[in-house]
Amino acid sequence: MPGWAIETAARAAALLHLSPAAVVQGALDRACFHEKRRQYDSRCIIERLRQDFAESIERGRAVLGITSEDLYVPGLNFVFGQAELGGACAIVSTHRLVDEAGALGQPTTMLERRLRTEVVHELGHVLGLEHCSNPYCAMCFSNSLLDTDRKGDRLCFACISRLGL
Ligand SMILES: [Zn+2]
Ligand SMILES: [Zn+2]
Repeated sequence: MPGWAIETAARAAALLHLSPAAVVQGALDRACFHEKRRQYDSRCIIERLRQDFAESIERGRAVLGITSEDLYVPGLNFVFGQAELGGACAIVSTHRLVDEAGALGQPTTMLERRLRTEVVHELGHVLGLEHCSNPYCAMCFSNSLLDTDRKGDRLCFACISRLGL
């Protein structure tokens, strides 16, 4: 994972006052890999993060995993990320964020914004926020890059209020 992506994710965590969040990267557990789908089960990854970072979670830290691997949950072709609602762990994948915006090694304004958007979304779940119906709020569900690009990396007023930020 390139350094810019880790820095971008950490900045997005700080937007939510989650600067103590541990931003982690590294090879995903092969046990979570689905051979036929060629994707990782994001629920399995979350479970691994919970086990691997149990100590920092106990100390009250959030854990954000960043990966370039493709993620899925059963019933969906892919997910941009996954999080524990009101828990501690989240994972965000850059795999589907890269299209005409360029390769992962070369950050573009668009790619950084997409990553910030998905990080804010998943960490919002960690903080207890559910999906928001405001299409311009980062907590709106996104099914495609069109959705991600439309909603952007900011929370709506209602979600900010819910967080008490
Ligand atoms: Zn969500
Ligand atoms: Zn909202």
